[in-house]
Amino acid sequence: MFIGHFAVGFASKRFAPRASMAVLLAAPLLSDLLWPIFLLLGWEHVRIDPGNTRFTPLDLYDFPWSHSLVTNIIWATAFASIYWLWRRDTTGAVRVWIGVLSHWLLDWITHRPDMPLYPGGHQRYGLSLWNSVAGTMVVELLMFAIGVWLYIRATKPRDRIGRYAFWAYVLLLLAAYIGDRFSAPPESPNEIAWTGLVAILILLPWAWWFDHHRIAIETAPARATN
Ligand SMILES: [Zn+2]
Repeated sequence: MFIGHFAVGFASKRFAPRASMAVLLAAPLLSDLLWPIFLLLGWEHVRIDPGNTRFTPLDLYDFPWSHSLVTNIIWATAFASIYWLWRRDTTGAVRVWIGVLSHWLLDWITHRPDMPLYPGGHQRYGLSLWNSVAGTMVVELLMFAIGVWLYIRATKPRDRIGRYAFWAYVLLLLAAYIGDRFSAPPESPNEIAWTGLVAILILLPWAWWFDHHRIAIETAPARATN
């Protein structure tokens, strides 16, 4: 799953108006932020195997620290605690916790059975939505549309940056998601790791930037114009 994780972050804003979008997106993306780091450190491994599922050429055979259920619960609790200590925002901390944990759930739906419960566990889980390109894209694009729609309802632009930097972000994610369908498989695990890491390190500050130029509408139902 890719833009489905962004959908969760966008949808969270409505429930945690005080939290920055950078935090609300970092939560559901955390596993995929740790994964390239762990790949580069050699703690986790991936194989390039075109046809592994129809949707992805990656054989995700070893990623227990970033992608097991138990470590996800640990990352969720750690991130939510740090956020709470920093902002004293309980609603935001709860959304962060749910957001981090949602990653495992959504990956479990899309991946073939490669998701472990805990490091060292031999049982793997996954519902293999990735075996259908159309199914994957319908589910993710629908989730993304709903997430973006909820975010638009929950905030309104303060100025031009709040409007255009936000829409540019949405369009870039869509272009990246659709463009990925037509690009060749990556050359090496290092290329996957660096691309993933750099993308997230650009996308999180960018989200902070446009969100900072939008106002959260705290009273629902809101008449957000966009
Ligand atoms: Zn993932």
